[in-house]
This record gives sequence, C-alpha cells and structure tokens, in this order.
Amino acid sequence: RAELAMYHAKASGRNRLCFFDEEMARAVRHRAELERDLEQAIEAGQFVLYYQLQVRGPHQAVGAEALIRWPHPERGMISPAEFIPLAEETGLIVPLGRWVLETACRQLVSWASTPETAQLTLSVNVSARQIYQPDFVDQVLEVVEKSGADPRRLKLELTESTLASDIAGVIEKMRLLKQKGIGFALDDFGTGYSSLTYLKRLPLDELKIDQSFVRDVLTDSNDAAIARTIVALAHSLGLEVIAEGVETPEQWKFLAELGCPAYQGYYFARPVPIERFEETLRGFLLVQREIGLPTDSGR
Ligand code: C2E
Ligand code: MG
Ligand code: MG
Ligand code: MG
Repeated sequence: RAELAMYHAKASGRNRLCFFDEEMARAVRHRAELERDLEQAIEAGQFVLYYQLQVRGPHQAVGAEALIRWPHPERGMISPAEFIPLAEETGLIVPLGRWVLETACRQLVSWASTPETAQLTLSVNVSARQIYQPDFVDQVLEVVEKSGADPRRLKLELTESTLASDIAGVIEKMRLLKQKGIGFALDDFGTGYSSLTYLKRLPLDELKIDQSFVRDVLTDSNDAAIARTIVALAHSLGLEVIAEGVETPEQWKFLAELGCPAYQGYYFARPVPIERFEETLRGFLLVQREIGLPTDSGR
C-alpha cells in the first residue's frame, strides 16, 4: 500500500511527495510552536481582555462581553478563533479560563465603585472543557469570592455544544452557581443542537441570537423568521434575549420591530480594551442623561 501511494505520488509529478511532506511538516511545526507559545503566554500573562458593550433600548448600556485577545510578540494580534480551539484540545483552556474569570471579576469590582457602572453585567465565555472539570463550580466560586465581585453581575456564556455530552451534570453545576447569583446565557443560539426539551430544563437567564441569523435578517425571510421565533421563545420561557452581530441601524431597527430588546454588535461598539470601553460607556451615559434615562439602574 505504501509503495502504491509512493508510486502515485511520484507519478503525479516530480517532487510531489517531497512537497506534501514539507507542507505537513510545516503545519505540524506551526501547531507545536503555537502550543508552546500559548503555554508560555499563559505563564507570562500575555493575554488581554477586550470588552464589547451590550445595549438595550438601544440607548441604555447594560453590560459587556469579555473577549480574549492574544497580542503575540511576533505574529501580531491572534484571534480567539485561532487559539481557543488549540487551548481546548490541549487543556490549556483551564488555566486560561481561570485568568479570564479573574480578570473579569476584577473589572466588576472596579465598576462596583461608581453608581454609573455598578449595575453593568459582565459576560464571560466558558468552554465545554472547563465546565466538565470536576471542580468547575468550586473554581468559579473561589475566584468570585476572592475577588469580592458581586456574583449577580457575572454571567457565564455556554454554547449548545457544551451541553452535548452530560447535560444532567451541567445542569447541576449551573444550579449550584445560580444559587450564588451567577447568571447564564446560551451563546450562538440556534446553531447547535437546539433541543427544546433541554432548553426547558436548563436554568438559563438569556438567549443570544447567533450573528448568522442577524447578518441577512433584512433580506432573508428565513433568518427573520428564526430571529422572531427565538425572541418569542425567550419571552415565553421567561428569558432575556439579545441579538449578536448587529452591524447596521437597519438591522437594529428590524430586530427592534420583531421584539428583540437588547443588542450587541459593531454598530453600537466593537470589542475594545478597557480604557476605550469606558470612553464609549461615558458617551452612552451622556446620551442616557440627555434623553432622561436613569444612569444607574441597569436593566
Ligand atoms: P462569541 O462568544 O460568540 O463572541 C462574539 C464574537 O462576535 C466575537 O468574536 C466578537 O468580536 C464578534 N462580533 C461582535 N459584534 C460583531 C459584529 O457586529 N459583526 C461581526 N462580524 N462580529 C461581531 P471574537 O472576539 O473573535 O471571539 C470569537 C469567539 O471566541 C467567541 O465567540 C467565543 O466563542 C470565543 N472566545 C472569545 N473569548 C473567549 C474566552 O475568554 N474564553 C472562551 N472559552 N472562548 C472565548
Ligand atoms: Mg460569547
Ligand atoms: Mg456568540
Ligand atoms: Mg461563537
């Protein structure tokens, strides 16, 4: 078999075999390097959290989602889409996730000191690999308690794929955390295994309409129908609902008309470092004051 493969590879062009070998070797090397860099970056604390505003109404700033960034010394800013899967495969997501949670909790403590920011919620993404750690609940509670953050301001974002293997176990963990006041959002809703039975059983607070339904909501009647259905579902289950990936005023207005009350997306604010986030926030607070909305009541 090996000989045959070799023959075909050679027959299909000179140096072909050699070319494939090099490609593969390069990919393996790249991955190994990234993995080593990731490990070192965690130890060296090279990551940053960006914050993306979440709004209601749409003039009321109600919270933010924490989104990790890796400013790599040689490769520039690496997006989480590239290194989170690797961190999940290698298990490095566990220490990395802990760092995200610690940083987010510190931010909540800082916001708690002024009335304008004290009611903001902060959402943190949690990977399946993290929640399936046997001591996940203790880890989260330890971080929250040590930081002094108000657990009612913290929201954990899970995806449907997180729930694929041991839903009963996840529900139990969610219950324990919810008893302490921590909230839960179902991220990228509608893109995974949306079993309505599970949805009913999960102790959730919020559904996040995936951005893939928002993108063409104006032109694709199926996407509009899905968005409308998710909003109705959230309402009838007593959950909050927020649309992700709102990029234009037209998308926002359309979503508002179909009953979606909260939004996150580039149209309102991009994910930015904390200093810039707080600048954006001040802008929103000015508008809130101008139009007579309370500036310290959150939702
Ligand atoms: P996500 O949790 O669904 O986060 C939303 C993603 O959509 C973010 O990408 C955000 O920058 C992007 N986004 C927000 N508004 C818009 C918009 O109007 N248009 C478009 N096109 N995109 C928008 P980002 O920051 O690259 O993160 C990608 C994914 O990486 C996240 O998806 C999340 O699944 C994961 N991730 C990010 N930070 C963490 C983390 O701290 N821990 C874990 N486990 N996963 C994380
Ligand atoms: Mg998220
Ligand atoms: Mg999402
Ligand atoms: Mg996502």
